[in-house]
Amino acid sequence: MTDTGRRAELAASLERVRERIARACVAAGRPPDAVTLTAVTKTYPASDVLLLAGLGVTDVAENRDQEASVKTDVVRAEGVRLRWHFVGQLQRNKAKSVAGYADVIESVDSVRLAEALSRAAAGREVPIEVLLQVSLDSDPARGGVSGDDLWRVSDAVTSSEGLRLGGLMAVAPLGADPRPAFARLQVLAGQMALRYPGADTVSAGMSGDLEAAVEYGATHVRIGTSLLGMRNSLR
Ligand SMILES: *Cc1c(COP(=O)(O)O)cnc(C)c1O
Repeated sequence: MTDTGRRAELAASLERVRERIARACVAAGRPPDAVTLTAVTKTYPASDVLLLAGLGVTDVAENRDQEASVKTDVVRAEGVRLRWHFVGQLQRNKAKSVAGYADVIESVDSVRLAEALSRAAAGREVPIEVLLQVSLDSDPARGGVSGDDLWRVSDAVTSSEGLRLGGLMAVAPLGADPRPAFARLQVLAGQMALRYPGADTVSAGMSGDLEAAVEYGATHVRIGTSLLGMRNSLR
């Protein structure tokens, strides 16, 4: 496809996604600008990221270090500044690399990872914003903290140099109504914001469930498929 064709396609899907977000905000009695769109560009080329930036997208998310480090380099070389979110499972040996390009890391779920990120962030001018990934199901393979671990990890983040606790992130359980899960997330987010004033980001909602997430207080929705199209792989 030509760049112009792809630009028109992305402009149209962006318009539809922005409409969905705005309608969900109205339905929830929230101001339409209460929710930030994060475009999940994994598996799509840097050229798509540049087109989205040209269309006004400010926040972009990736889930694999290797792919993200190449893409962020290409975009930066074009002189385009975006807020890069990392949303994938993160091994400690990748902390240094991810800290080199990510503004926000949404998938922190252990004290040890927080410590590795803090070491990797040494010398940065701006701290890395950290969101704690909360497990909304009991599947350890999908990552995330549960129970009192949430407070152990959040205390570790707030006392770590180079990191700033931004709030929570979650993925709804597979194949179930997302509402009860997002309702639990909303309760945790309320407790989090009381304990750490300013840690009030709630990243929840994807292409299939953004309306439910906005209903339960999401401040950021992470949209891939509805914006860029179906991915070939399942990630
Ligand atoms: C891929 C991904 C998304 C986007 O999912 P879509 O259903 O394509 O909108 C959101 N969050 C995370 C953590 C992801 O890995």
